[in-house]
Amino acid sequence: MLKSIRVRLTLWYLFVFGALLIVFSTYIYSSVSRDMRRRFDASILRNAQAMASYVTEFAERQNLEAGAKETVQELREGRESAAIYREGQLIASNGDDVTAAVASTRIQDAVGPDRKPAYITDPRANRRLVYMPFEFENVKYAIAMFEPLDKLEGEIAHMRNVILVGLPAVLLLAAGGGFLLARKSLQPMVVISEQAEHINATNLNERLEVAHPDDELGRLAGVFNALLSRLDTSFRVMREFMADASHELRTPLTIIHGEAQVSLAQDRAAEEYKKSLGIIRDQAKRMARIVSDMLALGRAEAGDQNLRVEELYLNDLVEECCQAAHSLAVTSHILLVCETPEDVLFLGNEELIRRMIVNLLDNAIHYTPDGGSVSVKLTGNQTSAQLVISDTGIGIPADCVGRVFDRFYRVNDPRIRPNGGSGLGLSIVKLAAESHCGSVKVVSEPNRGSTFTVALPL
Ligand code: ADP
Repeated sequence: MLKSIRVRLTLWYLFVFGALLIVFSTYIYSSVSRDMRRRFDASILRNAQAMASYVTEFAERQNLEAGAKETVQELREGRESAAIYREGQLIASNGDDVTAAVASTRIQDAVGPDRKPAYITDPRANRRLVYMPFEFENVKYAIAMFEPLDKLEGEIAHMRNVILVGLPAVLLLAAGGGFLLARKSLQPMVVISEQAEHINATNLNERLEVAHPDDELGRLAGVFNALLSRLDTSFRVMREFMADASHELRTPLTIIHGEAQVSLAQDRAAEEYKKSLGIIRDQAKRMARIVSDMLALGRAEAGDQNLRVEELYLNDLVEECCQAAHSLAVTSHILLVCETPEDVLFLGNEELIRRMIVNLLDNAIHYTPDGGSVSVKLTGNQTSAQLVISDTGIGIPADCVGRVFDRFYRVNDPRIRPNGGSGLGLSIVKLAAESHCGSVKVVSEPNRGSTFTVALPL
């Protein structure tokens, strides 16, 4: 049950609200009851003062002692007990209880030298005792009065009971209200999770309905929808890639299968077998190249998030690649010129950058007819490096230039190497440049040549 946010929210709300309510009720209870006791004390003091003025009035006519006796006798015995003292000696009382209480509580000592009234509660009798000193004709008198506390205690107890009964009731109502509130505010989340539950790889194009796009849940749904869009795009790209890949692999496989079947159908001369095996070898080479490019592309994409980077000298790497391509250029009677400056220090993934240079060089040589030339030029300053690979080859038709970086895209030209390319070479170049925050662009003119320029920030 505690797993539900609704229940947890309600409990937290109840806890905070309950704590506040208890603190508030305790404060109200203590301050009101203190005030009631203060008023009670003031009222018994007023009674004592009234008695004192009555007694002194009496004394002006006859003697004070007789007046005092008469005054205390007039009080209802038991309810209000009083005693009058002169110079500490009892001169009149209407009951032993008050004199006994005065003696046992030693309230006279509490009066002090400034002779202010003193109060003491007698818990056994549940009565409040006031001892009020006064002076008459230079003689010190004091009135002790008892007042029952039942009414005051009853009122305080009533207030306490109201709080004790009301508090749980209010908390119960608050719990119900809190639960309803939590349920209402979390309802959109339930709707979102129900909708999200139905989304899988086959219906990634569906989106969550957002009733209030500007509130917190609306924003959450918006973020989720954006995530779905990105997933949808990646899935689509992946599906297209798979379809393209299988299509590309099907052609050499069909050729291999056909060649093998024709060769096996009847006995043939050794020359014919050799020819068939040559075709099969070329197609196998092509398939190997496609698979290797696909692997490189997959690895580069997977490593996009945390590409292993190291310090490397771009000029050394470019020269190494040129040297490796030299024999291919010589075989094709192509002049390969490589120009690099000193020490172009770069932070990047060596494998990916090497593959990028090799692919560009490989294309330049392959798409340049015999007798042509390929030039490689690396330049660098403090902030960026630029690699320019130009050839005097067949060039790319204007309507195809924009697509050469697409996966498996190949220009439909009979002069293009029939067995060599996978159509992934330039995709890898683009990915390599972009994963190093760089870019690649191409300028080409059919029959005159192409220039690929890679810009890399240092
Ligand atoms: P491929 O493996 O077919 O070379 P790429 O992705 O490397 O695949 O290149 C895509 C297409 O771009 C090629 O098929 C070719 O038509 C064209 N292309 C690439 N480089 C050059 C170039 N230097 N000169 C002319 N065409 C090129």
